Amino acid sequence: MIDGLGEHQLQAYLASGQLPELARRLPEWRGTLTSTFPSTTMSAMTTLYMAEPPAVTGWLGYSLFDGDDVLDMLFQRRATPQGEVRALNSAELARLRGVDSQAKRLSALGVPCRHIAPATFQNTFLTDWFSEGADFLGYENHADVPALWPAAFQPGYTLAYFPEYDTACHAYGVGSPQAVAELRSLDGLLAALLDSRPRDCAVLLLADHGHINVAALPPSAEYLACLNGLPAGEGRALTARFLPGKAEAARHLLSEVAEVLTADELWAQGWYGGPPQTEADRARVGELTAVPRSHFQFVPPGRPHLRGTHGGWTEAEMRVPVLCWR
Ligand SMILES: [Zn+2]
Repeated sequence: MIDGLGEHQLQAYLASGQLPELARRLPEWRGTLTSTFPSTTMSAMTTLYMAEPPAVTGWLGYSLFDGDDVLDMLFQRRATPQGEVRALNSAELARLRGVDSQAKRLSALGVPCRHIAPATFQNTFLTDWFSEGADFLGYENHADVPALWPAAFQPGYTLAYFPEYDTACHAYGVGSPQAVAELRSLDGLLAALLDSRPRDCAVLLLADHGHINVAALPPSAEYLACLNGLPAGEGRALTARFLPGKAEAARHLLSEVAEVLTADELWAQGWYGGPPQTEADRARVGELTAVPRSHFQFVPPGRPHLRGTHGGWTEAEMRVPVLCWR
């Protein structure tokens, strides 16, 4: 699982010779999947680990409303409209963990599971949830990974997760030397995996979402004046609540640069993969969600601008590869 490697980029990197090992080992079967909406790791990776859509996991974006507060799902923090930020307590975390991982379900059926990921992820909330039922195998850097592949060749199911390419794209942009260097390294790991695997070991390569390079667009002062509390969501799918009587003005402002949908429209049109499980889930997205039409992201005050990003519904963000060697 390569975080952020959309199908568009995969094709471009293959065409320009940046993935020589993969080019020499083209898969028996190749297709694509459509990511979740928003096309963001907190939604899409949770779907891949749980085998359930965001509507079922309740992980509907990078940050979500909880009453008047906003929950940061990646760092499991609560921000209040008064500006207070605190870590979620164990009861709050337990509520976010409503679905069992594939590994937990498989291991209950007697299938041994393993989870390969950066060693720094061990004993974090997300890894404890995502890999419950699996043996965790951590790596400090890519050089450690080939020594872990033999564990993946044992009978069972192994998920190997690589976040480094996504991180480089955020910091330096898609196609940057830093992003390409991460990809070249992953290309080498894939070669080591394919060349040393036993004949009865199938390998799937996939991603959670794509990536695009974006400019920053600070929300206008007029828009910010309409807000009731903090905005949530992501830069490519900004969601917010509005002061009484201000939603129509906000919609008008946003419509100049973005597609704007109400929460009811998003749920009714199936963007989250089904109806909300609870009324609390329905309210986790704001009144209006704005998805930029061109390549920019909203950067609310206090948020960093990222050179590359994702979250919207362009094909480059949504289309992800599935490569299969059997
Ligand atoms: Zn990302």
